[in-house]
Amino acid sequence: MNVINPATEEIITTLQEDSPQNLADKLEVLRKGQQAWVKKSLPERIAILLTFSQLLATQIEDLALILTNEVGKPLQQSRNEINGARNRIKWMLENAEKFLSDEVMIDEPGLKEIIKYEPLGLVCNISAWNYPYLVGVNVFIPALLSGNAVMYKPSEYATLTGLEIEKLLKAAGVSDDAFQVAIGGKNVGDALLDLPFQGYFFTGSYKTGQYIYEKVAPKMVPCQLELGGKDPLYITEDVTDVKGTAAATADGAFYNNGQSCCAVERIYVHEKNYDEYVAAFVEEVKSWKQGLPTDEVYLAALTRKDQIAVLENQVSDALKKGAKLLNGGQNTSNKGYYFEPTVLTNVDHTMLVMKEESFGPIIGIMKVKDDDEALALMQDTEYGLTASVYTAKQERAEHILAQINSGSGYWNCCDRVSAALPWSGRKHSGIGATLSHLGLRAFTKPKGYHLRG
Ligand code: NAD
Repeated sequence: MNVINPATEEIITTLQEDSPQNLADKLEVLRKGQQAWVKKSLPERIAILLTFSQLLATQIEDLALILTNEVGKPLQQSRNEINGARNRIKWMLENAEKFLSDEVMIDEPGLKEIIKYEPLGLVCNISAWNYPYLVGVNVFIPALLSGNAVMYKPSEYATLTGLEIEKLLKAAGVSDDAFQVAIGGKNVGDALLDLPFQGYFFTGSYKTGQYIYEKVAPKMVPCQLELGGKDPLYITEDVTDVKGTAAATADGAFYNNGQSCCAVERIYVHEKNYDEYVAAFVEEVKSWKQGLPTDEVYLAALTRKDQIAVLENQVSDALKKGAKLLNGGQNTSNKGYYFEPTVLTNVDHTMLVMKEESFGPIIGIMKVKDDDEALALMQDTEYGLTASVYTAKQERAEHILAQINSGSGYWNCCDRVSAALPWSGRKHSGIGATLSHLGLRAFTKPKGYHLRG
């Protein structure tokens, strides 16, 4: 398997993919490892994972460069990602004892009722490349904290980062046989589905997620899916700082080249603010530098070459149906997977750009006349990850957000994840939650103890 630098198209290295036999052997290693790992006390596991987080901090420059070289994101965004992952780990470690320890529910003479959170056992994590540290720690930190052993399959586009994570976990004291990395792409992921894991945790596209869910179903084990989105954002007429809002929301759409599961993917603006918003949005987009990710740029290369064709198709489909192109629209570089930040107006819901996940630097902005029209358009999607409303009034935002079937709702913010809140998708955006106390317990099976005596 070649690891390619998407900014230069150079081969960084070549790795050997795991064979089905290798994977089965790694599972056996994990099986023994889990028995030893689970015997460590929770405070011991917390201490080891704290050391892991400290190692991320001390090695951040090397790790950020490895990440940037294999996924193409600007170096500063790689550093931001590692620091963001450390913040999530901090919350998880500080809250592990509160949410993973035994809970005494009833304690009266002659009767005690207790919930114990037992680990699932052998956990399989098939992961994505867009934020390998962030989506990785959502799974392997709480899984290890609660006493599981983990088979981590990084995306084939982020394998070097996966191997660095393995090295640092082991250096921190996670025993060799409680964490293993599976190297490879689709076929290796598929082979993992044939093995008897006791829980599957997947981050990736709807198409793959649906396939995994069906294939894992007969095992009757937990299967959580964190999938894509077509996240809407609505700017009402009572927003006063239209320019500032345009800049902030442009970042919500284009950070990491729009390759975020919760990137803003479509924007609706009240007609009163529409012209001012669009002008400020385009001005902001034009101010960004795009170039090599190792330079000081805001936009660098896309991770996957194939995505360029997806974006070109969305642009040409929109233009054919009457959209107006205000910026970008094409791949201008003959080396590396670059796509200009693209802004389309005069869009509608017959166009792919307003219906299908773009996962790239492209946005459609549409004029609406009131909340009812905005709400109907925001609801018009198969996805349900996040939705965002910018307005002066919290009550108005909450009233709209309550009617949208999404896992997260944002008032005057967007493209945001918090370790304290559940991260979850609905409909084609997924099943189950990571992060928060729910995400800590997602890797456990509760057992109710009825104790008389
Ligand atoms: P993808 O579905 O192509 O791949 C994800 C993982 O699945 C990779 O490790 C891949 O090797 C593996 N895989 C592919 N086919 C498989 C199969 N048949 N069986 C088993 N494993 C298989 O997705 P991607 O391109 O890596 O990630 C982009 C998608 O992930 C976007 O849709 C994005 O929105 C979504 N995403 C969601 C979240 C979230 O939290 N909801 C976070 C990050 C990314």
